[in-house]
Amino acid sequence: MPVYAYQCKNCGHAFEEHQSFSDAPLKTCPSCGEDQLRKKFGNVGVVFKGSGFYSNDK
Ligand SMILES: [Zn+2]
Repeated sequence: MPVYAYQCKNCGHAFEEHQSFSDAPLKTCPSCGEDQLRKKFGNVGVVFKGSGFYSNDK
């Protein structure tokens, strides 16, 4: 099963979720409860480090 990386645009919470291709993408952030999750393609296995990784799409 593929692992998808998500990050919340509201609070910056990032996590990975095991989902099948047919599963609907997650929308609601488990941290802040806002529907601001963004699925990050192509970043499976990448370690997010430092700040500023999400700072350029505000
Ligand atoms: Zn959030």
